Amino acid sequence: MAQTEFSMKNLPDENGYFGEYGGSYIPPQLQLIMNEITEAYTKLKDDPAFIEELSYLRKHYIGRPSPVYYAKSLTELVGGAKIYLKREDLNHTGAHKINHCVAEALLAKKMGKKKIIAETGAGQHGVALATAAALVGLECDIYMGEVDIKKEHPNVSRMKVLGARVIPVSRGTKTLKDAVDAAFEAYLADPDTQLYAIGSAVGPHPFPMMIRDFQSVVGYEAREQFQALEGALPDALVACVGGGSNAIGLFTAFLNDEDIAIYGVEPAGKSFKEGEHAATLTLGKPGVLHGFSSYLLQNDAGEPLPVYSIASGLDYPGVGPQHSYLKDLNRVTYVTANDVEAVEAFYQLSRIEGIIPAMESAHAVAYAVKLAKEMGPGKTILINLSGRGDKDIDYILENYPLAE
Ligand SMILES: *Cc1c(COP(=O)(O)O)cnc(C)c1O
Repeated sequence: MAQTEFSMKNLPDENGYFGEYGGSYIPPQLQLIMNEITEAYTKLKDDPAFIEELSYLRKHYIGRPSPVYYAKSLTELVGGAKIYLKREDLNHTGAHKINHCVAEALLAKKMGKKKIIAETGAGQHGVALATAAALVGLECDIYMGEVDIKKEHPNVSRMKVLGARVIPVSRGTKTLKDAVDAAFEAYLADPDTQLYAIGSAVGPHPFPMMIRDFQSVVGYEAREQFQALEGALPDALVACVGGGSNAIGLFTAFLNDEDIAIYGVEPAGKSFKEGEHAATLTLGKPGVLHGFSSYLLQNDAGEPLPVYSIASGLDYPGVGPQHSYLKDLNRVTYVTANDVEAVEAFYQLSRIEGIIPAMESAHAVAYAVKLAKEMGPGKTILINLSGRGDKDIDYILENYPLAE
């Protein structure tokens, strides 16, 4: 295979840049903290004891490797390329987020921290982090807007059962953005005993790099598994893109294989009108948000625009900086699926394969089904099925009831 500039070893540069994207746009006090994390991570990632402990937990706690499954019935129904699923929905806690949360908790522990903190919107990151904190033996504070706490009761209960403190945020709109601000303030007030654990491949350096590295196990496993099943690599990869962690986790192992077409699927929501989608790479422009540079949905003053998706995990006005770089290089093609297409795919996969996908993952399935028809028989597609849909079933049944 041709070695290209996509080689993961070259990205990002020492200041955290993927081309012009990434970096760290933060106050000096926070920069010192990020430097400390970068230093600790750089040492630990090559430390045999850390590698062994993480491998052990991946296998015996998370349940890795997750299977690669040939969706035969879906393939036959669609009548095109063969569709395969990387089953991240089968991980402990039901999604890919546990991959980076366990690693971040382990990192915090090795750095001598007592507590791991984060914000959460719908609660998925909060639950995965609370789980990892319980496992590793750390305290865990999760900042969550009061509006979200009311909406996401089951996840709030899960976090409490797992021993995390859920700290209500009552300022501003009482949602995710205010929770981010509150968590950052708490972190700045005491960076010595706590580690802030970001929930996707976003934020200032070194987080986009670290989260990418922790998630890349998905793609490296899938590469071997797919080769064993098909005797070749897939012709195309498809993953949904919120902040971009599950997508970069799958893509990384294949970026140097230039014959493989790679697609990131963003949520087109209700329409492409402002506030009705979260298609950041498709409709955004470069800018700075939450301490890093990337494509953003923003107004002329550079403030983030309101975003929407039926899948709360995709509902973010920014995107991981490496995706912005891969877009500009034309190495990855960023496309969209809307709410209705995602709901259709949600029911389709449930009914024909007995797999209820997360609404986030359903966006990837929706696009892959279209792509399979275009590519035709004889070709293969590998989808990252980032999570399971138990969290979505009540909402979908109520709002998109199926005709019997
Ligand atoms: C959070 C979440 C996503 C979106 O996050 P990325 O960082 O873009 O992967 C996708 N799928 C599931 C199941 C999630 O919980």
